[in-house]
Amino acid sequence: MLTGLGVATRQVRQPGDLVGLDAVVIPGGESSTMSLLAERSGLLDSLADRLGAGLPAFGTCAGAILLGREILDGRPDQRCLGVIDIAVRRNAYGRQVDSFEEPLTVVGLDSPLVGAFIRAPVIESVGPTVEVLSEIDAIDGARQPVLCRERTITVCTFHPELGDDTRLHEMFIESI
Ligand code: GLN
Repeated sequence: MLTGLGVATRQVRQPGDLVGLDAVVIPGGESSTMSLLAERSGLLDSLADRLGAGLPAFGTCAGAILLGREILDGRPDQRCLGVIDIAVRRNAYGRQVDSFEEPLTVVGLDSPLVGAFIRAPVIESVGPTVEVLSEIDAIDGARQPVLCRERTITVCTFHPELGDDTRLHEMFIESI
């Protein structure tokens, strides 16, 4: 997605890969495994330092879990970075087969964006300084945030890299 928008990208696997970056994307995947591997390589601590110093980040799905303040239903040894004031419950919609797509109204976009929720987490609470940019109707009628931003950190619980709608990536690039 980013390459298509003319942005130079590189994969970040080790602490040294962070040197010189203007921003970082933490993608979907399996947050407990990502936490374990990033902790082992020292990447988690280096990333925490850079994010604390203002490195902008876009966390999608598992990436949102990693960037949040609190993980609900996490593995006991799973860590999070605490750079956006949200509490996130893993796998809150159920199993892989309960994945779904939903048209989303997004603050700043003039037409809906289709979100692909794949074994997605739910953002259960947001702090007072977190902007909610999109939300969906929960089964109990409550509204559930699915796209949030606080200072330099943006997170969403769906996969904006699927399909060919680049608008969220453009928003992120503009925010950098
Ligand atoms: N269920 C995954 C987790 O807990 C997130 C799934 C995803 O990133 N699509 O980390």
